[in-house]
Amino acid sequence: MIVAIDGPAGVGKSSIAKMLAEKSTFTYLNSGSFYRAYTYLHQQTGKDVTDLAGVLATAQEVQLRLIDGHIHVNGIDIEDKLRTKEVDAVVARVSAYPPLRSYVNEQLKEIAHGEDMIVEGRDITTVVFPDAELKIYFDAKPEIRAERRFKQNPEGTTYEEVLAGVKARDEIDRNKAVGALKQAEDALYIDTSYLTMEEVCEKVLSAVFALKMG
Ligand code: C5P
Repeated sequence: MIVAIDGPAGVGKSSIAKMLAEKSTFTYLNSGSFYRAYTYLHQQTGKDVTDLAGVLATAQEVQLRLIDGHIHVNGIDIEDKLRTKEVDAVVARVSAYPPLRSYVNEQLKEIAHGEDMIVEGRDITTVVFPDAELKIYFDAKPEIRAERRFKQNPEGTTYEEVLAGVKARDEIDRNKAVGALKQAEDALYIDTSYLTMEEVCEKVLSAVFALKMG
């Protein structure tokens, strides 16, 4: 069974998906990590990250492996390299490149095939798994998402900078020619603004349970 979750940056998708995986037998798959990994690996080669065909070429030269929820390349765990300011600044633009999206989507489908998975991203409910048994759209105001991000990692940035970053990524994510962030018509809409993680988890688990019983 696939539980597909979409929503804007900082809405709590990753934290909640991880918590859901801990409370269930589902495995957690974060599609954003693939875009981040290819961005990071291309930056590491010292090549121009605005050369999107070049990023795709880098992607095709490496093989990402998912081990215990962490991305590995050549046996090295790179998960803690993926959420830096440098990657944050360009990943939304890199991920707008349609050939790279197709390349990532194929891998996601292969990994999830026949598994119980919670997959999260921007186009998971609409493009990658439009037939997922459960589709969910998380939402929250930009100011609330920025505040959460800022509290998680206040070093070296102001709240205003974080808010500007969240809004800039929203703009790019919502206007991608392919794989733009939007709510699937049949997705369960959850506004996480004033809910705790536990409350959101409960709502999702109730929906999973209802489906399994139905
Ligand atoms: O979710 P996260 O912020 O880690 O994703 C990194 C970037 O990858 C996002 O800014 C978004 O632009 C992009 N992304 C995407 N499609 C997905 C997942 C992430 O375009 N399915």
